Amino acid sequence: MENNLPITFETLRVRYGTGRSYLIRTEGRHKVHGYRKGVMTGLGDLELKEWKRLAMELVQTSQEQQLYQNLLEWRLEHNCRRSDSEPEIDALELHMSRIFDDPLWVGYIPFNRRYRPEILDSSRLVWVKTECCGEPGEVTKERLEYEDGRIPCPVCGRWSAFEPAQMTKNKQKEVMWMDKLAVVVEDGMVREVYEPYPGQFDVEVLDLDTTDPEEERVIQERLQIIQQHLMRIY
Ligand SMILES: [Zn+2]
Repeated sequence: MENNLPITFETLRVRYGTGRSYLIRTEGRHKVHGYRKGVMTGLGDLELKEWKRLAMELVQTSQEQQLYQNLLEWRLEHNCRRSDSEPEIDALELHMSRIFDDPLWVGYIPFNRRYRPEILDSSRLVWVKTECCGEPGEVTKERLEYEDGRIPCPVCGRWSAFEPAQMTKNKQKEVMWMDKLAVVVEDGMVREVYEPYPGQFDVEVLDLDTTDPEEERVIQERLQIIQQHLMRIY
């Protein structure tokens, strides 16, 4: 490491990714190169494996394993990053940047409402109605102050113009209860599924009735990964 800074969330925050090829060995006139992935942090350019180890350690010593699991689950559900990236790395990157404390983060309200509702008690939240959906939703004051006339719609996620919404306490409760995915079951079969943010949840169907053995193997593997990372709700 290039300096003696302490290992903290701030010094482990990823500023940008780095990659570098290095010489493994020389075979006669040929040079054999390897390629390593890294990240630039306050501690300097760290190899990805080393950064992951330090970040995991910090999560543990800070007793924030649950928060890490929540970020991982969030990341897997929202699938908002590059598809070739590792969910664990993405979750750690979000964790090191303490994104859950940033009122400008698009996920600030839904993430904290689900995992850390007490945070929202002291947040500055306002109700708005966006042009795109015409539905009332909540945003942070910081977001309103930051953007010039447009915000990511709290209902559909698109950038949209908005106006303040007058909400009674009862009306607020009604809307907040809509903030979940609802599955209707009848005769042991899933009949209907409702979701609050169409397009923001990716729904994946695992069809175990397939007759193609190769496809079945792939689906079973996928199911195992999902069982490890997602919460069973039905
Ligand atoms: Zn909208």
